[in-house]
Amino acid sequence: MNLSQHNTLRLPARADRVIQVDSIQALTEITAALGQAPRCILGAGSNVVLHAPLAATVLLARLMGRQITEDGRLTAGAGEDWHGLVMWSLGQGFAGLENLALIPGTTGAAPVQNIGAYGVELSDRVTAVTAWDFQDKKLVRFSAGDCGFSYRHSIFRDPAIQGPWDQPRYLITEIELQLRPMANAQVEINYADLKSAFAHQAQPPSAQEVADAVIAIRRRKLPDPNDIGNVGSFFKNPMVSQLQARNLSLLHPDLPQYPVDASHHDQCKISAAWLIERCGFKGARRGDVGVHDGHALVLVNHGGGTGREILALAHEIQQAVVAKFGIFLEPEPIFLPHH
Ligand SMILES: Cc1cc2nc3c(=O)[nH]c(=O)nc-3n(C[C@H](O)[C@H](O)[C@H](O)COP(=O)(O)OP(=O)(O)OC[C@H]3O[C@@H](n4cnc5c(N)ncnc54)[C@H](O)[C@@H]3O)c2cc1C
Repeated sequence: MNLSQHNTLRLPARADRVIQVDSIQALTEITAALGQAPRCILGAGSNVVLHAPLAATVLLARLMGRQITEDGRLTAGAGEDWHGLVMWSLGQGFAGLENLALIPGTTGAAPVQNIGAYGVELSDRVTAVTAWDFQDKKLVRFSAGDCGFSYRHSIFRDPAIQGPWDQPRYLITEIELQLRPMANAQVEINYADLKSAFAHQAQPPSAQEVADAVIAIRRRKLPDPNDIGNVGSFFKNPMVSQLQARNLSLLHPDLPQYPVDASHHDQCKISAAWLIERCGFKGARRGDVGVHDGHALVLVNHGGGTGREILALAHEIQQAVVAKFGIFLEPEPIFLPHH
């Protein structure tokens, strides 16, 4: 089966079989039927590069349902659309997810890379993750602390815990978040783009206003995968030591640097987009793939591109950035299959 409709880069990789998983009962049956046969999990395919055929059964995580208690404890099924969940929670009168509006994909994939944007990460709001354990054939509940969250990382993308790409141990079925009633919620608007969006407003914005601003900024800056195939940021912003950051800023005063959380006080994040742009890749095209002309961090499929071409371009960019700045850019999306 062709997976081009199941990944936002619109790569035409094939899989042996695709099954929708919409209940725990279905998971029990699938586990028994598949045994040790290769399997692989997909949400909406907005953070994967399908660069070769997947010799596996693809399980589409589609467990649905969402509810929120009076004190803001939100529970949502893995198959819920993430942006839909954000807007629904705001509509229910709860703040906390507004900075994460318009991130494509499913709720079940959100913990996998600890999604983050505009100064907030999922790990700031999540309290627990429930997953189906294919090995022990039962549901397991992970506290937020068990999930090993860090910048674009969690145990669910750690091969030492999750296993090889075609034998993933855990399929996330549900997540729990703690939100705050809007009336007494403080919003996070320290991120530069948001700060300037509200610079002329005397009152602090509401959570809904922050969501509206985030949506407007994202629409302006990022290409819509419905218009042109992409997976958002293709590389993580590299972390460097404070010393290296100081040396870099002496050489390149306009290189954007971002603070990291308190546990990494000796480190600093620098802009991958700036590094790529300085290597001359913004708007570059190689056959039917390229770098978006509005955002150097976004690799795009102009239509007939293949996963192999995307990987070749990513490699070319990595080599150029190492040669010019001595910095290795780590890809953000997950390559499937991987070795
Ligand atoms: C335009 C654009 C903008 C983006 N902006 C951001 C952003 O601002 N911040 C950010 O963090 N990300 C961003 N992303 C990346 C992407 O939206 C997120 O990583 C999202 O969480 C992926 O969800 P998905 O359902 O598409 O996951 P998929 O791409 O289908 O899967 C991603 C990984 O998670 C695994 N997985 C999926 N579902 C489950 C499950 N239920 N259980 C276990 N494993 C699972 C898959 O096996 C795969 O390894 C962006 C992507 C695009 C296209």
